[in-house]
Amino acid sequence: MTTLTEKPWFESYPQEIPKSIDYEEQTLQYYLKRAARDFPEKTAFHFMGKELTYSAVYEEALKLADQLRSLGVEKGDRVAVMLANSPQAVISYYGILLAGGVVVQTNPLYVEREIEHQMTDSDAKVMICLDLVYPRVAKVKEKTPLTHIIVTGIKDYLPFPKNKIYPFIQKKNTGIKVDITYSSTLLSFTELIEKGRAEEIPVDVNPKEDLALLQYTGGTTGPAKGVMLTHYNLVVNTQQCEEWMYKLQPGEEVIIAALPFFHVYGMTTVMNLSVRMAFKMIIIPKFDPKEILKSIEKHKATLYPGAPTMYIGLLNHPDIKKYDLSSIKACISGSAPLPVEVQTKFEEVTNGRLVEGYGLTETSPVAISNLLWGRRKQGSIGLPWPDTDVKVLSAESGEEAAPNEVGELMVKGPQVMKGYWKQPEATQASFMEGWLLTGDMGYMDEEGFFYIVDRKKDMIIAGGFNIYPREIEEVLYEYEGVQEVCVIGVPDPYRGETVKAFVVPKEGVELSEDALDEHCRNYLASFKVPQYYEFREELPKTMVGKILRRVLVEEEREKHKK
Ligand code: AMP
Repeated sequence: MTTLTEKPWFESYPQEIPKSIDYEEQTLQYYLKRAARDFPEKTAFHFMGKELTYSAVYEEALKLADQLRSLGVEKGDRVAVMLANSPQAVISYYGILLAGGVVVQTNPLYVEREIEHQMTDSDAKVMICLDLVYPRVAKVKEKTPLTHIIVTGIKDYLPFPKNKIYPFIQKKNTGIKVDITYSSTLLSFTELIEKGRAEEIPVDVNPKEDLALLQYTGGTTGPAKGVMLTHYNLVVNTQQCEEWMYKLQPGEEVIIAALPFFHVYGMTTVMNLSVRMAFKMIIIPKFDPKEILKSIEKHKATLYPGAPTMYIGLLNHPDIKKYDLSSIKACISGSAPLPVEVQTKFEEVTNGRLVEGYGLTETSPVAISNLLWGRRKQGSIGLPWPDTDVKVLSAESGEEAAPNEVGELMVKGPQVMKGYWKQPEATQASFMEGWLLTGDMGYMDEEGFFYIVDRKKDMIIAGGFNIYPREIEEVLYEYEGVQEVCVIGVPDPYRGETVKAFVVPKEGVELSEDALDEHCRNYLASFKVPQYYEFREELPKTMVGKILRRVLVEEEREKHKK
């Protein structure tokens, strides 16, 4: 490992980012065209040994757009993408936009019911999917408006014979074989690209009005809703990202693309930002700590955006000390609370800064963050981004809350969604006088830094006390030997609800309930101390690594019904 002797390279940077920016009224695809013009020979991505330049990616996206047109896709038509992070995911996203279509991102883990709902609700004409998920799509296709399915294999873009599987994939997908007989409605991605013409298609897009993306969210509380994000929403958020990272060089940075592109967080802060800035993406299809450690060292990666569990995963890898991580300059953690411990330790093992940000699908996603090289506070989600207003709605007065008073966070800004697809009532309910109601409880301190206390719906009410799981989780994370924690409320005949903690111990560590109880009693009022503990080897998570609290809540509810 490199020994760090010099002063941190970011120390002399200004403490602020501008309050306001002039936004470009452009389409998202414009930035791929620009990268291909200004950085044609720069590598757009590296994927398991295969590299493609920006000019090659643009050409392939144009060819796909041409073929989508010949399948009948026209301006505003929805085209679904059900892919893990891969070259095809980038090419498909931009190909659809170049054809004038609207991307419908679909989680590759979705089961038939979810696929059917999303395709029917979005009225998608075409889907581009991975061969491994195709059997699930095939089962429901007839019940959806899909007319064509384009299939691609993860091996299609690898630089070795198709019958030879790369060891990393082999390890992940042993024995999965999918037989596909292509037809006029079931098409091969690579064949389409071979046939396509690399010519720009004139489409008249109004960036402020026209949708680029339908991003489904909220599935844990009923059917998922499609968040309508315009080109402008997404361009603005990417431009805000650029401003926030202002010291980074176009065409120079190397970013670990492990956050899934099908989630708005990875899509904006990794894929769209990279295309805008002609960064080199090191595409990782599935979170694998060792693969990421190796990739950081090998490619001298400078950026690693992630979710807290992705930092925890690296920090707890037994081999972390064997890798040189000193190339890392900047990391942003979002989508769930970042434990302070994790932030401190991660900065110790890299040469960079790890700061916390906050956002939601409805805000494209980033709305608030600490500054990378300026003002920040541990435990806080930071300051509102340029042109973004945030306020706290007091539950008691229904007015703006005073500093340090907890209430629901509301956001207004150019990155805020147009609304929910075909759901005017849900759209209306999520706005109050033009402010988006986030459903997150938090407060602002005297210096204007925001803090999340919890999701409104995750609050535990025990014996009349409001308890925020986040606070208890922070305390448990401080206990040596704790790797991951999730605290929930479970039914209790006396208090209504009581506190239960699910704890994943670090490898080789034995934790006892008594020790954790003693630790919690030292730092928490007694009504917040968990009454129950359950030790697990792992916790259910989303593909971005967010712990699926709802799954644990449901499990407990089921248990109590019996
Ligand atoms: P999604 O729409 O899937 O991006 O989820 C958005 C939700 O993630 C927000 O409403 C928050 O509840 C949560 N979230 C995002 N960032 C943070 C953060 N830094 N701390 C706590 N919760 C967060």
